[in-house]
Amino acid sequence: MNGLIFDIQRFSIHDGPGIRTTVFMKGCPLRCAWCHNPESISDEPQIAVYRHKCIGCGECRSVCSTGALADGPEFIDRSKCRTCGKCAEICPNEAIKLIGLSMTAAEVVDTVMRDAIYYETSGGGVTLSGGEPLRQYEFSLALLGELKKHGLYTAVETCGACSWEKLEAIANLTDLFLYDLKMIDPAGHLRFCGADNSLILDNARRLAAHGSDIIFRVPVIPGCNDSPNDIIAIADFIISLPNTPLIELMPYHRIGRGKYEALGMRFDLTETCEPENVDSIKERLREMGMEVI
Ligand code: SF4
Ligand code: SF4
Repeated sequence: MNGLIFDIQRFSIHDGPGIRTTVFMKGCPLRCAWCHNPESISDEPQIAVYRHKCIGCGECRSVCSTGALADGPEFIDRSKCRTCGKCAEICPNEAIKLIGLSMTAAEVVDTVMRDAIYYETSGGGVTLSGGEPLRQYEFSLALLGELKKHGLYTAVETCGACSWEKLEAIANLTDLFLYDLKMIDPAGHLRFCGADNSLILDNARRLAAHGSDIIFRVPVIPGCNDSPNDIIAIADFIISLPNTPLIELMPYHRIGRGKYEALGMRFDLTETCEPENVDSIKERLREMGMEVI
């Protein structure tokens, strides 16, 4: 069985304890307005064009048989593109990339095990992220099973929008969940993330009751979920869970904006969260008795 992977990031220190490798998987059920990994949203491979890197050699056009590049890479006709990847292969300056590589679980394991010594010495391991790893449930289950056979500490970053049965099966092979929690208000969640959040909140409750280790990751998005009411609602929800899981605030940044253009996607959010705003929210959460990282 193959999974569709868009990046394998070595030496990650932000996706769980120690030194880790993070495996980024394609496909997500949500459509968060602030998503900084737009290449993760689609379940299919995609072509990204980085115009600033193009040197105008024309090689890509010469190998494209569908006419998608007839007017040059900056004017790619995505309706004609079959994502064969030939243009990306031949481009001498990495101005075109194929996003999404089909890999078996064994191939991913071979790749991540190259850094086994670092996991061992740092208390690290492997994190599945995305996108939403449970969007490729069968593959994630197989991959986690293989990682466990190698004795690795596993983490899964999830938005929780999946069936409980699948999440429970994944939980039995996962040491730590990084659980993305955007907001509690259902109308706001529907508006900014494109889906109702009742399943996400239910799964969070069940996962906590199941005894899983959880860090709730909250992106702080100005004008979307950073009002006092939003923050207090998130804190109240987490405090109500067994063993009061940790909370990690994720400041909003603009890093992903160039990716939208490369993928031919629109990006509508314009604001950024100032660090002092995140610091003041952290302070408020600590006053409520939460452990914030
Ligand atoms: S991926 Fe294939 S079909 Fe699409 S633009 Fe490149 S060469 Fe053409
Ligand atoms: S092959 Fe790369 S550098 Fe050459 S024209 Fe195409 S995108 Fe530009």
